[in-house]
Amino acid sequence: MSSNAELFDEARSVIPGGVDSPVRAYGSVGGVPRFIQRASGPWLWDAEGTRYLDLVCTWGPSLMGHAHPQVIAAVQDAASRGLSFGAPTATETELAEEVRSRVPLAQKIRFVSTGTEATMTAIRLIRGATGRDLIIKFAGNYHGHSDGLLAEAGSGVATAGMPGSAGVPAGVTASTLVLPYNDEAALEEAFAARGDQIAGVIVEASAANMGVVPPRPGFNAAIRRITAEHGALMIIDEVLTGFRCGPSGFWGFQQQNGERFEPDLFTFGKVVGGGMPLAALGGRAEVMDLLAPTGPVYQAGTLSGNPLATIAGLRTLQLATDDVYQRLDDRSDQWRQVLAEQLERAGVPFVINNASNLFSMFLGSTPARDGVADYRQAKTQNAEAYTAFFHAMLDAGVNLPPSCFEAWFLSDAHDDQALEVFSEALPGACRAAAK
Ligand code: PLP
Repeated sequence: MSSNAELFDEARSVIPGGVDSPVRAYGSVGGVPRFIQRASGPWLWDAEGTRYLDLVCTWGPSLMGHAHPQVIAAVQDAASRGLSFGAPTATETELAEEVRSRVPLAQKIRFVSTGTEATMTAIRLIRGATGRDLIIKFAGNYHGHSDGLLAEAGSGVATAGMPGSAGVPAGVTASTLVLPYNDEAALEEAFAARGDQIAGVIVEASAANMGVVPPRPGFNAAIRRITAEHGALMIIDEVLTGFRCGPSGFWGFQQQNGERFEPDLFTFGKVVGGGMPLAALGGRAEVMDLLAPTGPVYQAGTLSGNPLATIAGLRTLQLATDDVYQRLDDRSDQWRQVLAEQLERAGVPFVINNASNLFSMFLGSTPARDGVADYRQAKTQNAEAYTAFFHAMLDAGVNLPPSCFEAWFLSDAHDDQALEVFSEALPGACRAAAK
């Protein structure tokens, strides 16, 4: 049996950094990434046979818990009939109808394979629809790694402390205006100055890639209002929050709580594929019909709408009933409370932010003590304290995101036993963070 360290060494000799997505390499927290052999419910087992309680949940998709028997059975059944056809299947339509039933504004839906593709296509679409080039994104929001969206991005880009990426032509990011998140006045100003050149705004439904930073009340609705006033479009990126922060995503959660607004386009990923490579964009029919083959905006994919991915997504959404979301909300309240109690007891200054059931913590005293509402504030957190906390949790058998700029995820499988493991690991980790 190879150890994690041996596997990491071997991987590094053939894969850059030993990983296929940067944050997995533990660059900011140090140490050896766990090489995972299998997963079930809320648990992961690494190559050494050690079990971990998982709060990464494959960065979001695992809503029902790892390897849910009904999802696995559906995928196995589909696999027995072929892995990919490069032709339409009825399951794609069924999944599109399921998505539309939850988010009626997604009148038409196109499936792609990654969130990056979904947002990249959505940007092309709003440019095609308006004939304008400029787009607006917000600092600390992450929308995948397409060239134009890698400006002041969150997630792995934030973890690595990079302003952007080498290899992206300056001309490409020059078409991306980056504004502070949660700053309605900055948005008004940008549109007042260049409104007739701006195709639209892309925003995470709730920011969750600089840690969880929910929109201030009225912020998302203000984006809608301002874009509409200037003939620009609004893309709400629900790749991370969609079908997780409620049956209709964080947008649905906001509607329920009285903040009503109608974006032109939605992007989905993660949960919509149930752990398989699947993502989507959806929106008003007249905008979506601008996509090829009905319209002039080109988009395609050999594996788009893959039969294994669409059935995994469909089965996952069918399992994700209102009861599941109620349980997730209740558990999230409970887990956040336990975390806060232990941090307080250890005397660690902290803020815990949440966007419905999604949460993360920011350690450190200033200015996070007054809340974290944007990327500038998120960056003031004490990353070293997080590193100490992370490793103490890992040693106690709890797998957290190896970065203080990521959300923590629960699933329907995170039961009382899982909470017990979490609670028992916390005191030591909080003491480590206090040092
Ligand atoms: N948009 C958001 C909000 C995300 O959180 C992510 C990934 O974390 C993406 C887009 C990109 O998705 P993918 O990693 O599937 O390309």
